[in-house]
Amino acid sequence: MPDTQHYRQLDAAHYMHPFTDAKELGSRARVITRANGVWLRDSDNNEILDGMSGLWCVNLGYGRHEITEAAARQMRELPYYNSFFQSANPPAILLADELAQIAPAGFNRVFYAGSGSEANDTVIRMIRQYWKLRGHPRRTVIISRRNAYHGSTMGGASLGGMDAMHAQGGLPIPDIVHIGQPYWYGEGREMSPDEFGIQVARELEGKIAELGVNRVAAFIGEPVQGAGGVIIPPDSYWPEIQRICDAHGIPIVADEVICGFGRLGKWFGTDHYGLRPKLMPIAKALTSGYLPMGGVLVHDEIAEVLREKCGEFAHGFTYGGHPACAAAARETLRIMRDERVVERAESEVIPYFQRKWMELGGHSLVREARVVGMMAALELPRSGGKEGRTGMMCRDICVGECGLVMRAVRDTMVSAPPLVMTREEIDELAERAWKALDLTQKAIQ
Ligand code: PMP
Repeated sequence: MPDTQHYRQLDAAHYMHPFTDAKELGSRARVITRANGVWLRDSDNNEILDGMSGLWCVNLGYGRHEITEAAARQMRELPYYNSFFQSANPPAILLADELAQIAPAGFNRVFYAGSGSEANDTVIRMIRQYWKLRGHPRRTVIISRRNAYHGSTMGGASLGGMDAMHAQGGLPIPDIVHIGQPYWYGEGREMSPDEFGIQVARELEGKIAELGVNRVAAFIGEPVQGAGGVIIPPDSYWPEIQRICDAHGIPIVADEVICGFGRLGKWFGTDHYGLRPKLMPIAKALTSGYLPMGGVLVHDEIAEVLREKCGEFAHGFTYGGHPACAAAARETLRIMRDERVVERAESEVIPYFQRKWMELGGHSLVREARVVGMMAALELPRSGGKEGRTGMMCRDICVGECGLVMRAVRDTMVSAPPLVMTREEIDELAERAWKALDLTQKAIQ
C-alpha cells in the first residue's frame, strides 16, 4: 500500500487539479482514501467530517452500498450503450419517468448529460434552437448574473459570472450578458434586504429594455448561488424576477445542479421559491455523487416545439443516459422516496442544522451567519488588507486542525452537509466550526 508521501510525490508530478494553484499546492495534496456516513478518512488515517457533501453532491452520505450494488448489477448486465440513433436502455428510460414524477408540473422530459456543465451547455443550444423554431432566430441572448456558477465548459463558464474564469480562455462566448446578484450582505446593506432584492431584480428589466425583448432567449439563475458563496436571495427577489419574466414572455432557467434533490428541503429549489422555470439543469445529488450524471429537465412548452419542429436536434454526449449512472440515480431516488429523505430533512434535520448554524453567528469573528435548507455561510472579516486571506486560513485550520471540511469563498465560509446528518453529527460540526473560528481569530491577529 503506497503511503501518503508516495501519493503526494506522484500527485505533484502528474496530476493537474481543478481550481487549484499548482505551485502553492506543491506536494501537499490531501488524499482521501475512504468514507462512510458523513465521515471521510485520509491516507494518514485522519477522520474528517464532510461539511460539504463532497462537492455539494453526496446528499445521502457515503457507504450506501445499495447504490453501488445497483450500478454494479447494471454493469454486469449492460455496462454501456448510447442513446443516439434511436436507441435507449432500460434504466435511463425508467429514470426519465421517475424524474417526470418528482419534477414540477409540466416537466415530463429529460435530456441526459454527463455533468452540470454539459447540462448548461445543452441549455444554451436548446433554448436558442427553441426560439429559432418559433420564428425568432435573433432571440439568442441569455441573461445571467455576476458571481453565478454554471460550470467550467466554455458555455457553462460563460453563463457563470466569475471574472476570474472569464479572464482565462477568452470568455464569455457571444450573447451572454450579466446583471447584478442578490448579495445583500456584500452589496446592499444600506437598504433593507427586500428593497435590495427588488432593486437587483429590476436590473433584469433594465437589461431587457437595453437589449430589446426580441433579443432575449432566457434568464438563468441558481435558486441559491452556491459556489459564489451561498448567496441567499432576499424574499422579494425571485417573485420580482418571475413577474418581470412573465411580463416579457422570457423563460427562466433554474440551475438546480446544487439545489435539486432536497438541498433546500424540497425536491427542487424551484419548489422552495415558488418559481416557474421552463428548463432545469440537474446533476450532482441525482446520483448522490456516486457516479457522474447530469441532465436538463425540459418543460412541455419547449419539448413539444423541439419534437414537432426541430427534426434532428444535433446535440448529445457519449455518456448521456449511461446505464450504470442511471441505475445509480434510480437507486438514489428510491432511497430518497422510501426513507422520506426530503421530508425528514425539511421537518427534522434542517431546523436543527439551522439553529446550530445561527448560533455560530454569535462568535465574535462572524459578521453574518445565513442559512437556507442545508446551505449555509459565515461572513468573516478581511485580514492583512487582502480579500480571501481570512477565508483561506479558516479553511486550512478547519480541515487540518479541526477535522472538518468547509469551503472558503473569498472570506465567506460555506457549508452544505449531507441531508442525512444526525443531531449528534450536527453538534459535532458546530463544535468543530466554533473551534476553527477561535483558532482563526487568534491566527489573524
Ligand atoms: N451549476 C451549478 C449551480 C453548480 O454548482 C455546478 C458545480 N458546482 C455546475 C453547474 C457544474 O457542474 P459540473 O461540475 O458537474 O460540471
